[in-house]
Amino acid sequence: MKKILQDLSYAELETLVLSMGEKKFRAKQLYDGLTQGKAITQITSLSKAFKERLCEEYEDAPVKIKETFYSADGTEKYLFEYADGNLVEGVLMKYKYGYTQCVSTQVGCRMGCKFCASTLGGLIRNLTAGEILSQILLVNALHKNEVAGQGAQARAVTNVVLMGSGEPLDNYDEVLKFLRSVTAEGGVCISARNISLSTCGIVPKMYRLADEGIPLNLTVSLHATDDETRARVMPVAKAYKINEILKACDYYFKKTGRRYYFEYTLIEGENCDEEHAKGLINLLKGKPCHVNLIRLNEVKERSLRATGDKDAYRFLGFLEKGGLSATLRRQIGVDIGGACGQLRASYMEEDRRV
Ligand code: SAH
Repeated sequence: MKKILQDLSYAELETLVLSMGEKKFRAKQLYDGLTQGKAITQITSLSKAFKERLCEEYEDAPVKIKETFYSADGTEKYLFEYADGNLVEGVLMKYKYGYTQCVSTQVGCRMGCKFCASTLGGLIRNLTAGEILSQILLVNALHKNEVAGQGAQARAVTNVVLMGSGEPLDNYDEVLKFLRSVTAEGGVCISARNISLSTCGIVPKMYRLADEGIPLNLTVSLHATDDETRARVMPVAKAYKINEILKACDYYFKKTGRRYYFEYTLIEGENCDEEHAKGLINLLKGKPCHVNLIRLNEVKERSLRATGDKDAYRFLGFLEKGGLSATLRRQIGVDIGGACGQLRASYMEEDRRV
């Protein structure tokens, strides 16, 4: 595979441009073009000869949108294809305050959560920072006419969640580099405060992230109130206990001053009775956190079942009465396979049938 220009920072692009005997201002043209989601050969301000030389070493376009799915509620889901043929998915959710894009950080995942489709085939490979960033660059370009601003300033995506396929903290260095580039001034420049990183709870990496000094929203997938239940649905729980996760969250708050979030997927007969609500209240009461309840998006390869609406609201009621800040997440994009990894899994299945 060729190298990827989107992996380079602005300063690194400048060094590259100069080393190729081009004028320094070409770096700005190149950076702006890439920020606008263009392939190298589409950047009209650069000479054909220079672009050809770049393309000898670098991918013209590291990722393409292979297919787009439109939900009745406005949500869009994309199947991205990388230069090596690997597929990941992404989702764009349109809210009144802006567009939120859900990005993938790995092809597949090795965490093995029982309810999740991304992990069905294990981890294929990590994505590089530039490959993750490119998901946003392409989607921004698609929607540039829906926002104010021109050229590089036209940014449709205002919020980013690292909740697509993959475990971000299992691809720490590239994810960190991505966070630096997506927040960089002059680029797509998304505020760290508008970025949420979701982890299954890899404790040592949570401490490391807290020390990076990036004020993003840390979200932990909890899904259970005791280690035994948690380990039944999330194998990673065998390595890191809930208590250790909570300590790491407190450290995150101490270092960044930002409250943290928990995701709690409601699974029928597993984690959503009154006793579980009490367990959650015991664990989290008084902590600077918010709980997002998620309805399980049933994955056909898995036997776990979703909780009905009535029980979901009942569970939410218990938490609220117990003094926790909690919301039941609105279900969006269900008609287009909104959950993690489902689209890629069904696509690959179809591919195999062909
Ligand atoms: N690896 C990260 C991010 C991945 S997914 C993590 O574990 O947090 C983002 C969220 O979606 C996680 O909370 C994950 O547990 C949840 N999720 C995955 N598959 C799901 C499904 N089928 N139904 C509901 N939530 C799901």
